[in-house]
Order: sequence, then structure tokens, then C-alpha cells
Amino acid sequence: MSLLDDLRTAVGASQVLTDGDLSAYEIDWRRRYRGKALAVVRPANTAEVAAVVRACARHGVSLVPQGGNTGLVGASVPDDSGRQVLLSTQRMQRIREIDTANLTMTVEAGCVLQAVQEAAAAQGLLFPLSLAAEGSCTIGGNLATNAGGTQVLRYGNARELCLGLEVVTADGEIWDGLSGLRKDNTGYDLRDLYIGSEGTLGLITAATLRLYPRPAARMTALAALPSMDAAVGLLQRAQARLGASLTGFEVMNQFSLELVRRHFPQQPQPLPPSAWTVLMEASDHESEAHARALFESLLEQAYEDGLITDAAVAESLEQSRALWHLRESIPLAQAEEGLNIKHDISLPVSRIPAFVAFTDAALAAHLPGVRLVDFGHLGDGNLHYNVQAPTGVSGGEFLAAHEKTVNRIVYDAVTAHGGSISAEHGVGLLKREELAARKSPVALGLMRAIKRALDPQGLFNPGRLLAP
Ligand code: FAD
Repeated sequence: MSLLDDLRTAVGASQVLTDGDLSAYEIDWRRRYRGKALAVVRPANTAEVAAVVRACARHGVSLVPQGGNTGLVGASVPDDSGRQVLLSTQRMQRIREIDTANLTMTVEAGCVLQAVQEAAAAQGLLFPLSLAAEGSCTIGGNLATNAGGTQVLRYGNARELCLGLEVVTADGEIWDGLSGLRKDNTGYDLRDLYIGSEGTLGLITAATLRLYPRPAARMTALAALPSMDAAVGLLQRAQARLGASLTGFEVMNQFSLELVRRHFPQQPQPLPPSAWTVLMEASDHESEAHARALFESLLEQAYEDGLITDAAVAESLEQSRALWHLRESIPLAQAEEGLNIKHDISLPVSRIPAFVAFTDAALAAHLPGVRLVDFGHLGDGNLHYNVQAPTGVSGGEFLAAHEKTVNRIVYDAVTAHGGSISAEHGVGLLKREELAARKSPVALGLMRAIKRALDPQGLFNPGRLLAP
């Protein structure tokens, strides 16, 4: 039998797509990577996934797993050979169980993140993973990329929110590791191998997730600051005063908010322009009044000590949403301004002021007039340090001429300051060569050994993350 016949037997002929417009599966979210699939296959359950993997293994054809196709590093779409099968988890959206006493929830890989948040909320509980793509990204994709988002400071990355996995291995076997256990010291942690593996080791079919009690109130504020040193100082104070209640600490440079002002003038900005603006969020288990009192005293003290020059505390849920919307509009405003060079990097928080001062100066010296869109999750040491062409220069021409130099300057500075070239988006194709050049040979050797052991045929997402 041909592979296509085998696939049709595995999932039904109507779920093996070969004709028509398949661009939603073949082009990535940023429209930077375009491929051509041999077929798009949409299994309905774990047994069907296993049958698809066995068929591909028999025919020696590789597979690209895909959830919501919101990944940002080119690992969720096939290459252009027309010889890879794209396996979409779109139809695997069942919530299998919510255990309110164990504070866990078991869901299939294709569940959309927002649906998982809503299912937890319906039980009075919280699934805290939160990111701007939550309306379309899936739990399988979130775990395969070890996604971060806006709540990492308090609750951790996707890895910390996952207690168990179900995975179809490269042999087409099903590993049932869906324990809801918080303690399990029985050898190598298979779960943690698959999390963050970007679909290169196996196909995640389901996960047991960690839930939390819902906070009684959430409080959001903006603060204007004169320097990145002051932002790190404010973060330290907020952590000391608010402890685990501090759930978000985002930073935005002046040019980021100027771009939002320019492209979305209808969005209110409560504070006048300043070198840096911080968005803080606290989640309180007592009451709104308790959260507000803590926040206001923190900000008053910071103002008296010269750490901040101005502040605005949201008075309602609506105002709080508007402040978050401001932060989330930066990537869109940046796209409106034109093509740019993006860097999702992480650093020890203590070294961020030195990194920013050094790298801003190095870029200005090499490329006079260059504009820096610098924002991100300061509480996690994660910056989106993006470089926009000088005014009047086309983004495309700027990228073609300077992308390599800009990346070298930024990533050299990241390495020199003890950071990582990928904080939360992963490696995929976008950063594969950079990873090969910068990760230690020992670490790369261990990673290749893991890949060979779990996927000896090189079936899953070949060439992503690690060069073939
Ligand atoms: P896809 O894009 O479909 O796939 C991503 C990777 O996971 C690919 O390598 C794919 O092969 C693999 N994969 C998918 N499903 C499976 C599976 N079931 N088993 C094995 N491998 C699988 N990321 C952050 O961390 N923080 C953010 O704040 C953030 N914000 C974003 C905002 C926007 C607007 C966008 C578009 C993206 C953002 N991202 C962010 C990127 C983030 O990686 C994805 O949004 C999300 O985690 C990927 O989920 P997905 O279902 O779309 O996966």
C-alpha cells in the first residue's frame, strides 16, 4: 500500500488533505517560512496518531507536528520538498478530566489555550499560562515550545505547569505518563525531555496540567521610570513587598510606546513619555482593597525615593485590560512601522541594565540612527530586544544589509552578559545555526544523543532545533 493509502486507513480519507488551499498549515504565522506538505493529516485521537506515526515510520517519511501554527521560529510548518507529512492536532480538543481536589486537569494536545483557561475558570480555578496567541495556540504547542508569557514570574513556564504527558513515540508506541503527581522520583524525567523539544522527539497527545486557586482580585498599574536601573530597583522592591502576589512585571522603552501612539492613536496612554514604563500586576487572595493598599504604598515609597517619576493604578477591570492591551499592542505597532530584526533573549535580571547600555551603544555606533524597540517580561529577565531601521530607510533593505551584523552584536552581548539567545520562543529553523555556534559542544553532543536514542530514524521534525 502507498503511504497515502496507509494514512487514509489510519484516520479516514476525509482527514488526509492533499488538494486545495493548505496555506494555513504550510505558511508560518510570521509568513517567513513557506513549505509544501505531502499531506496534512488530522487524527481524532491518540490511537490514530500512533497509527499515523507507524505508517510514516514504515515508509521512512518524516512528520511535522502542528498545533495552532502560532510558533515564531519556523518549526511548525513543513519544508518545501513536498515529502513531509504535516500532523495537525486540531481535532484533538477533548478535556478528559478536571480533578478539583488534586488541582489538575487532563486535556488533549489540540485544546486551545483559552479553552483550557475557561474550563479551569468554570470550576473556580486558574490555569495561569497566558500569552497574546492564547485564542489560537494549543497546549501541545505550548508544551513543545515550553511557552512563557505574562505570568511566568509567579507560576513558571509551561514546563512548571505540566505534571504529566501522554506521548506517541517514534516507534508509534504510546507512553502514558499522565500522572497528576507532584512528587515522583522514579528515574529519568521523560516528561521534561519532551517539553521544549519543538516536536523533534515525539508527538504530545495529552497533558495533565497544574491548576491554582483563583485570586480574589487583580490589580494593575503603570509606572514611569528614568532608567533601567530604576526598573530593576522597583522590581526588587515589588518582590519584597508583594511576594507571591506579584504576578506580572513588564517593561517598555519610550520608543515602544511611541510606536503604539503613532499607529494606534485611539489607545489612551495614561502617563507622559518617559525613558521606561513598567506595567505591574498583583493577584491578591484577600480582596481588591488589600491589593490596592499594598500597591499604592509601594508606588508612593518608590516615588519618594526617586525610583519612579509618575504612576497610574487601574480603577476597574476595564482600565486594567486597557493597560495590558497597550503592552500587547507593541508587536503590532512595530509590524505597522515596518520589517525589523527580533531578538527574544534572557539575561540574569541583575545584568539587564549593563546589557541594555552596552548593546544600545554598540548598535548606535555601528548603525547610526537605528531605532530600538525594547520591551518584555523584566520579572523573568526576558527582553524582546528588537531593532528597527532608521527613519526613512526601508525595513526590507535594512534587514538584507544588516541582519547578520545586528544579530552578531546582540547575541555576542547576550553571551558576554551570561544570557540565552532564546528565552521563550524556541530555536526551530530561525536560531538553529546560532545555537550550533553558541551552545557548548558537550551540551550539543548530549542533545544529539537524546535525539538519536528517541528518534533513530529522524522521523520527527528533522532539521529543526538541531541540524540534520
Ligand atoms: P505550533 O506553532 O503549531 O507549533 C510550535 C512547535 O511545537 C513546533 O515545533 C511544532 O512542531 C511543535 N508542536 C506543536 N504541537 C505539538 C504536539 N502536540 N506534540 C509535539 N510537538 C508539537 N510564546 C511565548 O512563549 N510567550 C509569549 O508571550 C508568546 N506570545 C506570542 C504572541 C503571538 C501573537 C504569537 C503569534 C506567538 C506568541 N508566542 C509566544 C509563540 C509561542 O511559541 C506560540 O504561541 C505557542 O506556544 C505555540 O503553540 P501552537 O499550538 O501554535 O504551536
